[in-house]
This record gives sequence, structure tokens and C-alpha cells, in this order.
Amino acid sequence: MKIAKDRVAYFHYTLRDQAQETLDSSQGEEPLGYIHGHDNLIPGLEQALEGKQAGDSFEVTVEPAEAYGQRDEGLVETIEREQFEGIDEIEVGMRFRTESNGADRIVTVTEIQGDEVTIDANHPLAGEKLTFDVEVTEVRPSTDAERQHGHVHDGDHHH
Ligand code: ZN
Repeated sequence: MKIAKDRVAYFHYTLRDQAQETLDSSQGEEPLGYIHGHDNLIPGLEQALEGKQAGDSFEVTVEPAEAYGQRDEGLVETIEREQFEGIDEIEVGMRFRTESNGADRIVTVTEIQGDEVTIDANHPLAGEKLTFDVEVTEVRPSTDAERQHGHVHDGDHHH
């Protein structure tokens, strides 16, 4: 069975950046499952999976526009340390969930200078060209509930 809209596919992946550093991998864990055509993956990866079947392996390099988008320097700002209420230790690399104009976003602390803290609300992989090594392990039809929810139901992940 080939990967097509509304089918569920499982795959192993290793994700590398342009410096060939491994950022993430499913090796040693369960393969990742998703329902095709429901925007569960970055567009460039989902497009590359289309038409593949169990046993297929491939490598795909995805431009930022088809991955996590370009960086937006307007999402970088410097705020006073005292705005981090109730947090004693702030370190570069820490991530916080904030709410701004009703939208949840994740910010990463990128620099600390005295009492000034620089935070970046870009996705950590924004602006990165990403390479995935992929091995498809299973393709199956989705259930009605999976199509309605737009995500995969496996074993005890019922809701
Ligand atoms: Zn569900």
C-alpha cells in the first residue's frame, strides 16, 4: 500500500542540519506515525513521503520555506530580567511558554547581559535547511475517527 491522502504511515527518521549534525532521530524508539494529508508533518517531508511504501528508504533535503519557515528578526526582543516572575535562574537555552495577543508561543532565551534578557520566538529550526533520512515501516488505511481527528490513534492513545 502506498502513502496517499488519509492513509496512516509509520516511519523511522534521522534529522540532520546543514552542518550534518544529528538533531533528532526515532532510532531506538517507536517509528513516528502520522495521517497523510492533514498537515501533521512539515510540508517538504510530507511531499517526499507521498507514494512511498513499507520498506522504502530515502533521503530528502527540505528548504526552510518547506520546513519551519524563514527566521523573523521581529520575533527577537530584549526584556528586563524582572519580567520573568517567579523564576530564579535564567539561562541561555531555556524555553518558556508565553501568551501574546491570545496566542501561545514558545520563546527561547538566546542571550543574557546583566539584567537584560534576549528572547527569540522563532521556531528553533526556522531558517534551517533540513535533511531527513527516512525508512517507511508501515502504511495502512486510517479509521473514521482518525480522519475526523486528523491524527493517528495507536494502542492506548485513545481519546
Ligand atoms: Zn483523536
